[in-house]
Amino acid sequence: MSIFVICEAQGNGYRSSSLELLSQARRLSAGASVVAVVLGDEATSASVLQGAAHRVMAVEGAKVGPYSADAWTEALAGLLLNETPRLVLFGEGTRARDLLPRLAARLGAAAFTNALALELDGPSLVLTRPAYGGKAYVAIRCGDRLCLAAFRPNSFDAGAAPVAETAFETVQVSVAGSRVDLVEQRPRESTRVDLVEAQRVVAGGRGLKVPENLRLLEDLADALGGAVGVSRAVVDAGWADHAIQVGKSGKTISPSLYFAVGVSGAVHHTMGMDTAKVVVAINTDPKAPIFQYADYGIVGDALQVLPALTAAITRVVG
Ligand SMILES: Cc1cc2nc3c(=O)[nH]c(=O)nc-3n(C[C@H](O)[C@H](O)[C@H](O)COP(=O)(O)OP(=O)(O)OC[C@H]3O[C@@H](n4cnc5c(N)ncnc54)[C@H](O)[C@@H]3O)c2cc1C
Repeated sequence: MSIFVICEAQGNGYRSSSLELLSQARRLSAGASVVAVVLGDEATSASVLQGAAHRVMAVEGAKVGPYSADAWTEALAGLLLNETPRLVLFGEGTRARDLLPRLAARLGAAAFTNALALELDGPSLVLTRPAYGGKAYVAIRCGDRLCLAAFRPNSFDAGAAPVAETAFETVQVSVAGSRVDLVEQRPRESTRVDLVEAQRVVAGGRGLKVPENLRLLEDLADALGGAVGVSRAVVDAGWADHAIQVGKSGKTISPSLYFAVGVSGAVHHTMGMDTAKVVVAINTDPKAPIFQYADYGIVGDALQVLPALTAAITRVVG
């Protein structure tokens, strides 16, 4: 039995969600082989995965360069047909949403997104994901059929013991190539941590009144070394980019600490953050639904509470 993790590059290494999945796979492997797969241009950093998996497979080919849904699907489909793993893991995000369904359709595999936990139950691997907008959780037992699953970042800690020996392999593939030519890739210019992987997120809603007040979220996020998120109402009003929207039609995140500031707590929003470990809600309305999700609640005007909170945290953190 083997567990494959499809890794996603970031900077000179791989996203923390990829490293967490490798860690959980090592924790559960019990005799199984943990395989890290890196593709195309992203294979150049493969050496940093020493100890993270029993095997690191670098998939290369003339037409497998920067990420491309067509070429990477074809390359991965061929690899998985050859290798026949039981379970293939992805970090939840835009890439997984693009790649995973294509692969599942091509391979006739079972496919799950938005998963939160992966455990061993006897000989079976069982994954957990929310259902009915987070009102229930379903446990899915992976059978003999190939199963592809994407997990929310921050679902596992990345500290499982490393493997003693990692074998590095290069697999040459020949694919038809992409129907899309990548002309230029411009990373978003931001010094803040990525919203999806951030441990601390300060999210704001319509209660901030005017777009200029989003600065108050940024100030607190900077004091905490975290990321900024917003509700859809804020995006629809044109105050912020959809890239930082949290919720059903935005990002699904699972930080250690989530501030919901001037956010009412509609189910479409909470679906994107209900697995945050600690939630702090700031709202003028004591009956706002967000307080049902909150570990700490502050009933008050965000425009006064935020600057005071930022100043207090800055005093402590320095
Ligand atoms: C198919 C679909 C998908 C959707 N996807 C998403 C999604 O991905 N993400 C998302 O967020 N929404 C989504 N929505 C919209 C969602 O249903 C809500 O309309 C939206 O989340 C409301 O945003 P809000 O909480 O910022 O605004 P509001 O609901 O208007 O809430 C504002 C809150 O601010 C409080 N407030 C007002 N003044 C202050 C103040 N001075 N200080 C503190 N608090 C104050 C108010 O009491 C209120 O609770 C979706 C809707 C649909 C139909």
